[in-house]
Amino acid sequence: MLIDHANIGGSYILILVLKNVRRIRIGSLGFIRFPAGCVFYVGNAKKGLKQRVMRHIKSKAKHWHIDYLKAKARITDVILITDNRWDECALSAILKKKFEMPVKKFGSSDCSCDTHLFFSPQINSSVRILANYLKSYEIKFELIKIDPSFSPFGFHPENLSRIDSEHA
Ligand SMILES: [Zn+2]
Repeated sequence: MLIDHANIGGSYILILVLKNVRRIRIGSLGFIRFPAGCVFYVGNAKKGLKQRVMRHIKSKAKHWHIDYLKAKARITDVILITDNRWDECALSAILKKKFEMPVKKFGSSDCSCDTHLFFSPQINSSVRILANYLKSYEIKFELIKIDPSFSPFGFHPENLSRIDSEHA
């Protein structure tokens, strides 16, 4: 389902790939060693979900923990969820049952979650594993391919313009 309301809020999951083990400085959390694999970062935007995701994809500013990580890893896919029962904390609560948590309190300084960052070691199948897991909870979502080099289906530039487009 295409989200076509410019101001609509919701939650999102950024999927990033780390091809090799890396030590990355995550702001105030200091240096963290990340194994090779995929990380899932769960976030929320009260409104302007698409604008928030575009900021994550395009901006080089370092404000949130995820900004430090995405400077070293590639965002390959984004999942958008506009069902407000599934905010970032509700999503994190189910993701922690299935996925590893590589960094405590990553992105969750303002809530009681252990973390909003999760890890899956399978570089090629993590997106499918995550999507199937969300489906098992009957969560409705939109999956958008961002990085062509990791897409088994080839790159569709319209995907990016879909989230970038304004409908003011
Ligand atoms: Zn939380």
